[in-house]
Amino acid sequence: MPNYADFEPIPDVPLETETADLIPDLGLGMDTGTLDPAHRIYVNRNLRMDQIRQIGFDMDYTLAPYVKTAIEGLSYRLTAERLVKKLGYPESILDIEYEPAFVLRGLVVDKRLGNIFKMDRYNHVGRVFHGRRELTKDERRKHYRNVKIRLSASRYHWLDTLFALPEAALYSGIIEHYEQDLGKRVAFHKLFDDIRTSIDACHRDGSLKTIIMANLSEYIIADPELPTTLHRLRSAGKRLFVLTNSYWDYTNAVMSYMLDDRLAEYPRWLNYFDVAIVGAQKPNFFTGNAPFLRIDPATGRVDDKPATKFEQRGVYQGGNIARFEKLAPGGEAVLYVGDHIYGDIIRSKKDSLWRTALVLEELEYEQTRARDIQHAQSDLIELEDRRRALDHEITTIKLRITAIEQMFETKGLARQRVNDLARAKRQLKMLLDKKRRSLHTVIDRRDRLGDEIDRAYNPYWGSVFKEGSEVSRFGEQVEEYACIYTSRVSNLSKYSPTQYFRAVRHWMAHEKA
Ligand code: IMP
Ligand code: MG
Repeated sequence: MPNYADFEPIPDVPLETETADLIPDLGLGMDTGTLDPAHRIYVNRNLRMDQIRQIGFDMDYTLAPYVKTAIEGLSYRLTAERLVKKLGYPESILDIEYEPAFVLRGLVVDKRLGNIFKMDRYNHVGRVFHGRRELTKDERRKHYRNVKIRLSASRYHWLDTLFALPEAALYSGIIEHYEQDLGKRVAFHKLFDDIRTSIDACHRDGSLKTIIMANLSEYIIADPELPTTLHRLRSAGKRLFVLTNSYWDYTNAVMSYMLDDRLAEYPRWLNYFDVAIVGAQKPNFFTGNAPFLRIDPATGRVDDKPATKFEQRGVYQGGNIARFEKLAPGGEAVLYVGDHIYGDIIRSKKDSLWRTALVLEELEYEQTRARDIQHAQSDLIELEDRRRALDHEITTIKLRITAIEQMFETKGLARQRVNDLARAKRQLKMLLDKKRRSLHTVIDRRDRLGDEIDRAYNPYWGSVFKEGSEVSRFGEQVEEYACIYTSRVSNLSKYSPTQYFRAVRHWMAHEKA
């Protein structure tokens, strides 16, 4: 057992100044200590970038962030129009306005009761809305207290991708409109299935993509730092690939818009990547056995024979991970960067050795808000500490009162002793009342401050990562499945390509105590 005193003392040097003296500033922006929290990379599991040989990227919402209001507004409108034209819904649903703040990733739709709710990591149901009305505590308890939420059950639909937000907004909007304006009953399960079918069709039949491709700058954010980010990774010897569910035409249009002719060495977006896989059908890509079919990028023609090798800068459709590992072996030396918690991150983590990086655009907004409300957060922590201390004091006082009551039962107590005990009990009871009043005040303040903090993130749902004082179900999945997470791909350029992303040490409750 080594003795702490045996270790060499750590020399007392101002580390940052020394490092700065030794390593000249090459303008690489690698002083990660001063990075804006909105653009940092956060680490759940240690990840050594020097051991990563291949980096794969999803496209939609990963390499290609969307303009939120534009894309969500468009899918909302097209879906509502389809409900009217194809499924006979009343035209008045076209006037229901889309409110982007009302929906958040990680919410759950309850198709049996027509509700939308947010859960914490223990699947405890927190906030619930029916239409636009928040359920009271009693209503919430009545419906969900004794219900075990299994997200795989057909009763529920989990919103784990940004593409799904408009469908939840439309669901609540139509329920509100039917029940409040039209006085009609709603078949909750059928309504959600109709919305799902309609939005799915808008994605598949090209109606959504035709409009986006004709107005790319309106819908897609071409991050100016993306080309240099990819270039730096390539220069560090990493092989890069694209793995997207979008098909060739759309992928080609979006990627060209973001990357063609941005850097002299890369006239075409394909020059950045060793291979591009489109129409990958994730999550099935991670479990299925579909073949890779080569696509001719000049004509978009798809081969009908399965590919037997990956050509440099080749484009392929479909495929599966087992075959990928044969054609471009990588295993643990692959980092896959995606935005879809289930299709990109959970499935790849469960079904492959690939390491995972999750792109969460919400992080940029939430980290900026967190800075604005830093004082409120520290006050909240202080109030929670005071609550714990008061709980402890109250328990101690109650134990003392019980002890005195037991002493009264002792036979033959002297009169003086009885009087002393009675006085002590009175005083303790007064103290108990005082502490209880303080506790109520602290709880009340904590609840109000907690609400204020939640509203600062989102007026309806609070932070995407928290539910009450717990981590949300969505936050838990981020922690469990993403090795690292960040707000955009170009944040990678703020770190060295050989960075050792080190996780913060995790303390168990008994260690913290
Ligand atoms: P990614 O590139 O893997 O992120 O996949 C995004 C692709 O999935 C885009 O082409 C979307 O249009 C498509 N997509 C998103 N939601 C749906 C849906 O509900 N049905 C069909 N396709 C969808
Ligand atoms: Mg995506």
